[in-house]
Amino acid sequence: MVSIVPEPSDLVADKAVSQASAFCQGAFSILHRIDLSLNTMKHIQRFYLGLTVTFSLLWLWADSAWLGSSNYFIWRSAFTNWTGVLGMAVMSVGMILAVRPIRVEPRLGGLDKMYRLHKWLGITGLVLSVLHWALAKSPKYLIGWGWIERPGPRVRGPLPDGIAGLLMSQRKLAEVLGEYAFYALCVLLLLALIKHFPYKRFFKTHRWMAVVYLVLVVHTVVLMKFSFWSQGVGLLSAVLMVLGSAAAVVSLLRRVGIHRRAVGVIEALEHHPESGVLRVDVRLQDRWDGHAAGQFAFVTFDQAEGQHPFTISSAWHDDGHMTFLIKDGGDYTRTLPDKLKVGGPCTVEGPYGNFVFDSSTQRQIWVAGGIGITPFIARMQALAKPGYEQPVDLFWSVRDLEDEALRRVQAAASKARVRLHMIRDGQNEHVWFCGPAGFGAALREGFGRLGLGAERFHQELFQMR
Ligand SMILES: Cc1cc2nc3c(=O)[nH]c(=O)nc-3n(C[C@H](O)[C@H](O)[C@H](O)COP(=O)(O)OP(=O)(O)OC[C@H]3O[C@@H](n4cnc5c(N)ncnc54)[C@H](O)[C@@H]3O)c2cc1C
Repeated sequence: MVSIVPEPSDLVADKAVSQASAFCQGAFSILHRIDLSLNTMKHIQRFYLGLTVTFSLLWLWADSAWLGSSNYFIWRSAFTNWTGVLGMAVMSVGMILAVRPIRVEPRLGGLDKMYRLHKWLGITGLVLSVLHWALAKSPKYLIGWGWIERPGPRVRGPLPDGIAGLLMSQRKLAEVLGEYAFYALCVLLLLALIKHFPYKRFFKTHRWMAVVYLVLVVHTVVLMKFSFWSQGVGLLSAVLMVLGSAAAVVSLLRRVGIHRRAVGVIEALEHHPESGVLRVDVRLQDRWDGHAAGQFAFVTFDQAEGQHPFTISSAWHDDGHMTFLIKDGGDYTRTLPDKLKVGGPCTVEGPYGNFVFDSSTQRQIWVAGGIGITPFIARMQALAKPGYEQPVDLFWSVRDLEDEALRRVQAAASKARVRLHMIRDGQNEHVWFCGPAGFGAALREGFGRLGLGAERFHQELFQMR
């Protein structure tokens, strides 16, 4: 007779198997998440690692005497140099990226990714500056606590001739400048990282980073170990600081993106109060070299308010017309239905971004959350060509929507032969997502469980910091 009551040993074994399976699923999910985020960020991560590792190796090449020493002051001097040169390198690259260099942007996967890299370079610069400052201050405390011996009085010979002597004569001034610049840097970077600090104020205060950066360049030029200048670490530092200083001046003169700006007028306005969306049709009066569907622009309706990024929600037909769909998501965008007038001026800077639907396979899945539909509308317009067929599924999640808006999206989808339906299988598609970060993370995970490879999930980061 076969017993249907499990033996206690079977129960223990079943429990162990189910626990092991839960553990494996959990571990797999964590690994999958790491894999997905690595792939989403692959360009900027490689760049970040390449920069920090190359610079550290170049420093090590130039400054390795500390390796065989047990003297605290020799170690302190070496690591003050390392945190100093690496800190300036990451801040210089961050400064260069802040002025939106056109050639670098596509290589880093678009402006949103480039600004993410800018943020991480800023955080790295902050950490290295704190270490640099702590190392500079450390002898006073370590001697006070009795952890190290006070060194004998330093015997300074006469200043050398030439540039070396000139730089040495300015050391005290450079140290004081560096210390105050460090305090300012800490305040400005912390304000940039505190999300509750209003974006508008962050934007204004962040511009002062350019001044702080220029002061730190002076500090570095005077205090960098003189022998470094004739080696790789010094030469690369010099190149980065020259480019970074030029970028700081461009930023202070408010000339960022000036060659990519076009003046235009508002041609038509259409407010959808239920969904809180304002459609703004613009006619450009200056030259615009075109854009790919899915790219965005920095739009200025009011000089006092400044630029806001919005996706260009129309395909380019070489006629100067473009459309923006703007959701009343914040303090400024809420005021736009009352403030904007037909015939009013606007400036459009761009195009930027790499959310342009290039994939190795034709088959694509698009996922939009709310106002995240904007790049897909532009793409559907671009696909609405006779005889052109691309197998695309569009899933759009939206809370409130007027019938008219829905009809328009359906009409655009139908003209582009894009199917609007639920997605059940993630085996052969590329997924394009634009919308809130939490929604993106949940989708990435869900699609991952269905077997969708990380390299096939493309996400626009709808946040600049
Ligand atoms: C690449 C990109 C494309 C976008 N496309 C669209 C679109 O097509 N339609 C749409 O409705 N929204 C879009 N947005 C979002 C839009 O830029 C913000 O909702 C808008 O700027 C909010 O401004 P606010 O002052 O009303 O809100 P606030 O409440 O002041 O800010 C809300 C958040 O918006 C962001 N933000 C505010 N001002 C700026 C700025 N000047 N530059 C960058 N980010 C800012 C900040 O993250 C801030 O925390 C896009 C954002 C990005 C980054």
